[in-house]
Amino acid sequence: MISSTTFNHVKYLWDERKAASLAGDEIALFLYRSNILGADLRITNYGGGNTSCKTMEKDPLTGETVEVMWVKGSGGDIGTLTRSGIAGLYTGRLRNLKNVYRGLAQEDEMVALFYHCLYDLESKAPSIDTPLHGLLPFKHIDHLHPDALIAVAAAKDSREITREIWGDTMGWVPWQRPGFDLALMLEQCLKDNPGIRGIVLESHGLFTWGDTSYECYMNSLEVIEMASAFIAEREGKNRPVFGGEKSAACLLRRAKNKPP
Ligand SMILES: [Zn+2]
Repeated sequence: MISSTTFNHVKYLWDERKAASLAGDEIALFLYRSNILGADLRITNYGGGNTSCKTMEKDPLTGETVEVMWVKGSGGDIGTLTRSGIAGLYTGRLRNLKNVYRGLAQEDEMVALFYHCLYDLESKAPSIDTPLHGLLPFKHIDHLHPDALIAVAAAKDSREITREIWGDTMGWVPWQRPGFDLALMLEQCLKDNPGIRGIVLESHGLFTWGDTSYECYMNSLEVIEMASAFIAEREGKNRPVFGGEKSAACLLRRAKNKPP
C-alpha cells in the first residue's frame, strides 16, 4: 500500500477519497494531479513546468470522435491550475504542424499556429511548451523542474548520470530551448528508446507520463525520488555529488531561470 511514508524526498499527496469523487472526469483528475504536484516545491518551482491529459471528445464540426489534448496554458502555476488555466487542442491538428514546420530559425511562428489547433474556444493561450506534450503519444504527461532533476540535468556528465540512475528506462535529450524543435527531439527520443518511463532534458528538467492521472503521478514521484536518493547517497559519502559539476547552486539558478 502506497502511503506518505513510501517516499523520503517528495510528498505523496494523492487522496483516494478525493480522487474517487472525481472519477470519470479525466480533466478534473488531471487538474487534481497538477495541484498536488505543484504543492511540493521540490517537485517543481513556482510557475515552472506544465501538465496535460488527452481525452476523446465529439468534434462539433463533424460529429466525429476526436482526441483533444488539455494542457496548462501560458502563465500561472500548476499548484493552482484550474479549468480556466488550460487550453484544449485537437491533437491531430497539432501533430500535422510538422508538415509546415520550417526549422529552428522560424520556430517562433509556430506559436501563432497553435491557435488554429484549438478545440475549446474558452482556452487559455497555448504556451510555447504545447507541442512538447502534443508530439508525445501518452494520455497523461507531466513536465516538471524538480530540484533533484535540475541537479542531474545540469551536471556536466548529465547523460551518464541519467543512465547510472535509471539504466535504459530513461531517455535523455541535449539542451534545446522549448519549442517545436524540442518537441521533435522528444518524439525522436521515444522512437529510439521505446518503453522508457520518461525523458531528462539537459539543463532543464523532466518529462514523465502514464496511462492514468494516478499512474502518471506515481511515475513522476518515483523518478524524482530515485534522483533525490542518488544525490543524497553521494552527499552522505562526503564527496562531490557529480565530479564534473561547476557550481551546483549556480547551475540550479540558471536552469530555474530558463522559461517553463
Ligand atoms: Zn520546462
